[in-house]
Parts: sequence; structure tokens; C-alpha cells
Amino acid sequence: MKRHQGITNSILDLVGETPMIQLHRITQDLPGTYYAKVEAFNPGHSAKDRIALHIIETAEEKGIVKEGDIIVETTSGNTGFSLAMISIVKGYRCILAVSDKSSQDKIDMLKSMGAEVHVCPANVAADDPRSYYEVAKRLHKENPGSIYINQYFNELNIEAHYKTTGPEIWEQTGGKVTHVVAASGTGGTISGTARYLKEQNPDIKVLGVDAMGSVIKKYHETGEFDANEISPYKIEGLGKNLIPTSTDFDVVDVYEKVSDKEAALKARELVKTEGIFAGYTSGAALQATQQYANKGYFNNDSVVVVILPDHGSRYMNKIYSNKWMNEQGFLEEEKVKAIQ
Ligand code: PMP
Repeated sequence: MKRHQGITNSILDLVGETPMIQLHRITQDLPGTYYAKVEAFNPGHSAKDRIALHIIETAEEKGIVKEGDIIVETTSGNTGFSLAMISIVKGYRCILAVSDKSSQDKIDMLKSMGAEVHVCPANVAADDPRSYYEVAKRLHKENPGSIYINQYFNELNIEAHYKTTGPEIWEQTGGKVTHVVAASGTGGTISGTARYLKEQNPDIKVLGVDAMGSVIKKYHETGEFDANEISPYKIEGLGKNLIPTSTDFDVVDVYEKVSDKEAALKARELVKTEGIFAGYTSGAALQATQQYANKGYFNNDSVVVVILPDHGSRYMNKIYSNKWMNEQGFLEEEKVKAIQ
């Protein structure tokens, strides 16, 4: 049956089952076949709909939350949007602690979705009382009857992708997938997808994407947290300055770091070449795909699935603004003509 035939009971019924679109021009010089798993097709326009719905519905099933209760979370924006959307439909109050690195668009969007938003500094230690982790913990404590989604330290984040994203990729490729390229923030997407796919075929390689300025890749390689790796960067939702327990490092084969500039240029190249308008981490995932290809990870038989986590509309004041791109000094190397 066609996905959108007939009437849908609620917007929440449209979470997941996102399309996979073959890439042509942007990957034309790379060996193998490339598919984009476009998570912007979720009703909240990102992969975070999957985890938000799974975590809340699991809490409902266990009798932990009921209508009128409070949902608290730290979020770079996307999880907040998903939680706000679900809260409206299901009748919860949504309180969000957001990093000041998040775009103003995202913050405005969350507020217009009815969420109460607390903006916190990004460049402070995770245990600083001003950090969004500590603010969320405090809000949770101050509000009895609230639940703290805690996406960086919640096994249900992995489970959501194990139950949905992984099986979808397996089915959509008819079991032919050989590689998955996925951005790692909380690590839920990459871990849940990898766990499922490797159970189907242990030869599938899972290639992670990390940011320059994040500790994730080094931790994967050494098992040690190295604070020297930490430096400010622009990409929202990728990498981390702490080690999330919602990343299962054992199921990821390798990580590749990408720069702010190359990720931004790749996202702009994607819309110009394929017509797919995606977010900053989608550019990061495609840039990493290019870097993995340069390092010889793929051959003509490779079937590579690149997960594109969210929609481009959330970055109009960043990577899709020539002014912002120029301010960062990112535009001079753009391969295709700049967006007017
Ligand atoms: N891209 C964006 C835009 C995100 O918001 C996130 C989540 N922080 C990710 C990628 C990474 O996904 P995950 O948290 O599942 O690792």
C-alpha cells in the first residue's frame, strides 16, 4: 500500500519509514552505488522524531508518564522540536534546555511549537551549572512528575533506531547494503542502525562521522577521553565534548572527522546536484563519504547508505546564507555557483 493513501489519524503516525533516494551527480566520481536515507521526511523534519516517540511511548507503556506531565530535555533543537510536536498531540508540557549554538530559527520554532525554552552557553564544561545538562537536571528536579529524556545517556535512543532505522535500511536495499555512513552526536542513530544491520550481516561496515573539535573519534580509537581534542566548531548536532552512553562504540567500525567548511560546502553541493535540501550534518555525512572513498573504503560493488539527519530549512541563517558563509571564510572554494 502507498504510504500516504487514505487518512492518517495523527501526525505521529507518520514518524519513520523515510525514503531512500539514489544519489547520482554528487557521488559520480566515487566507486559503488550511493543512497541517501532522507530523515527530513519525518513529520518533525529530522531523525529525532523516532527517538522522541519511542522514549515517550515506552514511558507511557510503563506508566511513568500520563497526560499533563512535563517532558524535560537538553537539545540542539531537533529533539526539542520532536518532543514539542509529540507533547502537543499527546497533551504534555515540554521544557527544553537549548545550547546557544543552536540557530535562532530553531529556538523560535521550538517556542512556536509551545515549548518553554531555556538558552544555555555551549562552551562551558558539561558539569558547569550553566551547561544545558545541568539546567535540564535542575528543571527535572524542580518539577515533580516530569520525565527527563536524557538522550545522551538513554539506551532507548539506540533501541529506537534498532527497531526502525536499521530494519528500514535492510528492507529498502533488499539486504544489499554493504556500508552505512552516519553522523554521531548522541550516537543513537549510528549505534541502533549498526546493531540491527550487523545482526543481519556482520560484514556490513558502519562508518561514523565526527566533528573536528569533538572527542568521539579519539575515544573510539583509544578508549580514552582526551580533553585536548575539544575546540569550538560550528556544526550543530555532530560530535561531542563528552562520551555519551547512548553510543555503542563496539558496533562502529571507524570514525572520520570533517571540517565545518567542507561539511557546509557539501550540503550546498547536495541541493545543487540532487535537489535534496538537507541540514549541516547531512553535508558532514556526505563529506565523510567522500573522505572514506578517498581512503579506499569503497569499490564498484559497494552499496553505501548515507543517513541525512535533518532538513535544510533549519539552517537558512547559517550554511544557506552567503553572508554567514562569507563571514566564516567558507565561500571561496565553492564548486558550484553560490546561492543568490
Ligand atoms: N544531525 C543533527 C542535525 C542532529 O541534531 C543530531 C543529534 N544530535 C545528529 C545529526 C546525530 O544523531 P545522533 O544523536 O543519533 O547521533
